[in-house]
Amino acid sequence: MEPVSSAPDAPARDASSLDVERLRADFPILSEEVNGEPLVYLDNAATSQKPRQVLEAISGYYASDNANVHRGIHELSRRATDAFEGARQRVARFLGTEDPGEVIWTRGTTEAINLVASSWGGANVGEGDEIVLSDMEHHSNLVPWQLLAARTGARLRFVELADDGTLALEGLAELLSERTKLVALTQVSNSLGTINPIREIADQVHDAGALLLVDGAQGAAHAPVDVASLGADFYAFSGHKMCGPTGIGALWARRELLEAMPPYQGGGEMISLVERHASTWADLPHKFEAGTPNIAGAVGMAAALDYLEGVGHHQILRHEQALVAHAMERLSQVEGLRMFGPADPTRRAGVVSFVMEEAHAHDIATILDSKGIAVRAGHHCTQLVMKRYGVPATARASFYLYNTHEEVDRFADALGRVQSIFG
Ligand code: PLP
Repeated sequence: MEPVSSAPDAPARDASSLDVERLRADFPILSEEVNGEPLVYLDNAATSQKPRQVLEAISGYYASDNANVHRGIHELSRRATDAFEGARQRVARFLGTEDPGEVIWTRGTTEAINLVASSWGGANVGEGDEIVLSDMEHHSNLVPWQLLAARTGARLRFVELADDGTLALEGLAELLSERTKLVALTQVSNSLGTINPIREIADQVHDAGALLLVDGAQGAAHAPVDVASLGADFYAFSGHKMCGPTGIGALWARRELLEAMPPYQGGGEMISLVERHASTWADLPHKFEAGTPNIAGAVGMAAALDYLEGVGHHQILRHEQALVAHAMERLSQVEGLRMFGPADPTRRAGVVSFVMEEAHAHDIATILDSKGIAVRAGHHCTQLVMKRYGVPATARASFYLYNTHEEVDRFADALGRVQSIFG
């Protein structure tokens, strides 16, 4: 999902070949009415809706195969273990790695980043070392590093945001030095939509001798990921942003990095031998997976990856960019409305964040809700972004594979109503 240099041609209305009408039928929730109106779900950056195929995989697992994994010598435990480890292999294939031991199950992106900050950070970061972040980061890719810095005396440094909602990358070279241990950046901004040029950044980071953690929470949903060609050393993402269930996600890192890292949490599953005062650790990936895992979640996540591959994962970003282009054009006609993020839709994933002169973001979201349109209002867990652009909150519409141009029109028409109430 590299922007700019490899950006697709300007997105046209029919730029993707997703059969949106057909695939909408896979999502039962999309045929609901909300407040007497057909639901228009534009809160996908918060969480995506789930297709029937994912719901059936989860309920089928509980109905037929449910047992605890790894420990049981009985048929159901074997089936549950096969389903769980098969799901790990599915994630490995999605990320382009042949080694499922490099895929660690987590509760989501937040836990994956905390795992790295705690385990790798605890072992490798000391006083005076530096971690480079950006002002675009979600709190999940900021607060774990603040906690690490407070524990170790490390220093956090920040890539700034340019006026157009992109990273001011000309400042990166100055931030990198022999003190830099890690650069941790988001692939796609959840509050601006900006797609960051991770590949280019990776080369710079590696030339400086540092590692790169990529927050893929918003990235993996929109296009296939190949961690090797992306240049990531750590890649974190969540199932629920990409048609999978909540409470499941993964951390990927190269085997040698993971092998050198101490465990994150202690408990069952992650040990080899336990004695009174000491223990030894299980092999990868189990060393990082203490306790009974989210087995049904893993099964659902694998079903989500199958689903996205089946509909054409590589088409999703183009579809979203066509919707964003249409939304930006319509919103630019609403008086007193200010949008944030790159003006060029090909530099964004499916996010449009905006404020209106007279109406608070929460009022906008409330009025849209009364019309059955779900958008988010607030700081979107990116208070540094809000501060940079001098607003307390924005309203955010975020699109996914099942959204249509007609829904964008309903959303834009409803904003006209907000304008007439407050304007
Ligand atoms: N990073 C980004 C860019 C996000 O958008 C989110 C969720 O909104 C997260 C991290 C955290 O993801 P999760 O809550 O699934 O752990």
